[in-house]
Amino acid sequence: MNPPVATGAPDATDAGPVLSLRDFHPFEAYGARFLYMVPSAGIFRMDDAGGAVLDALAQGPRGLDDLVAELGDRLDVDRLLETIEELTEIRAIGDPGAPRDEAPNDLPPPDFPLNTMVLNVTNKCNLACTYCYEYGDDKIVDTQYGKQPKFMSEETAEESVEFLLRQSGEQPTAHLTFFGGETLLNFPLLQKTVAYANRRAAEEGKRITFSLTTNATLLKPEIIRWLADNDIGVTISIDGPKPVQDGLRVFHNGRGTYDVVLPKIKELLATHRSRPIGARVTLTQKHLDVLDIYRHLTEEVGFFEVGLAPVTTQEHRDYAITPESKSHMLRQFEELAEEWLEHALRDEHHGFTNVTDTIEEIHKGVSKAYGCGAGLGLMGVATDGEVALCHRFAGSPEHTIGSVSEGVDREKQERFLVDHHIAEKTDCHKCWARPICSGGCYHEAHVQYGDSSHANLHYCTWVRSWTHTCLEIYGALAEKNPKFLERFGA
Ligand code: SF4
Ligand code: SF4
Repeated sequence: MNPPVATGAPDATDAGPVLSLRDFHPFEAYGARFLYMVPSAGIFRMDDAGGAVLDALAQGPRGLDDLVAELGDRLDVDRLLETIEELTEIRAIGDPGAPRDEAPNDLPPPDFPLNTMVLNVTNKCNLACTYCYEYGDDKIVDTQYGKQPKFMSEETAEESVEFLLRQSGEQPTAHLTFFGGETLLNFPLLQKTVAYANRRAAEEGKRITFSLTTNATLLKPEIIRWLADNDIGVTISIDGPKPVQDGLRVFHNGRGTYDVVLPKIKELLATHRSRPIGARVTLTQKHLDVLDIYRHLTEEVGFFEVGLAPVTTQEHRDYAITPESKSHMLRQFEELAEEWLEHALRDEHHGFTNVTDTIEEIHKGVSKAYGCGAGLGLMGVATDGEVALCHRFAGSPEHTIGSVSEGVDREKQERFLVDHHIAEKTDCHKCWARPICSGGCYHEAHVQYGDSSHANLHYCTWVRSWTHTCLEIYGALAEKNPKFLERFGA
């Protein structure tokens, strides 16, 4: 649990300082009451006295003396005063006229290190998935007839590695992830780039780690061997059992991909044992049996972990998830989350990464000023070497912030950081989930509102429900198996 932060005392009146509830989100686990503080993201467990003070103030503000008189007959007065002081210090209660605690609106320093670079080694794909953000209905870059080359050159890849080494500053480790189009269409470049990056990182006294995302259709024994030998993290884009996968993830001639990818994935899972292989599922209105998809991918195919995300698309598309279906989807997420907790209470792994990722953020006390690290600690590189906010914007002139040869255009980056800061998202200022969400994905916002700086207000109910569920899981672990939380670091 995070320690309390000292703050000033409330203003005095005739009945003592007036106190009211401030900005927090309450949740419970095994009968214990917790507060999730906004915007600090600290979590505090309430004892009986704390609960009584909060319950009393939930009826409305009152002076300190009145509050003590009201509760003093059932609680020790010294303990009560101590509790009021503690709750004031953590800003759970305070002066009703005091301004809300806003997230600080200062910008990150200009030399903020680049941690992850996503290299779009090709914008060509051998599949024609209906919902694809790159080729489908909602594309923002013309990857088919646009100005970018279909494949990244060796020279651009090497310049990209130099860019990553430079921009990662004093950090001893940086991460390079390969992306597409279909990444493995440019396999020769992957081999050369990993060899080059390893050599150059060693010369600079650094380390670069690698990963890639692939649709698995082009996996073959020598590629799998190379992935294993080079310790490359692999994420497979796959949507589930055969009818689901073949519904939308198809070759250009319309043929489904399930029968092609299944044996290749099984071979990959059997051979590449040094790093957990994950599946990344796109959920659409067409197939929303989340439990069936999860079980198929973990129990029948053998994935170690599975992350599921609703498709990014405009609401009128026939595969866009309707509001009613979002509730159905959430209930299934909650069922899997419950299962995740049962495993965690027994110190066992459960592969539903949507919970793992959120619990990690909660545990680390993450309070975001930005929806994600795009344009700051994470950048995407298009096939021609232009640097964009992230891989999904690679090639979009509007979202380009430099190039690997000439570096980051600090003016453009600063404009982006100002425009996308939580301080600008006034709709989010009263939301308790903002430390975790901070307005959400810029690409989703661009598709929904035509503006990457817009808050993703169409997802608020979902985000708040999901964050609440994960807070309850966090509380349950804090109560019954706090040691499990240590694996999420400081
Ligand atoms: S987008 Fe919605 S859920 Fe997210 S911080 Fe803003 S108001 Fe809250
Ligand atoms: S903008 Fe969206 S897609 Fe891009 S890195 Fe952020 S969360 Fe991911």
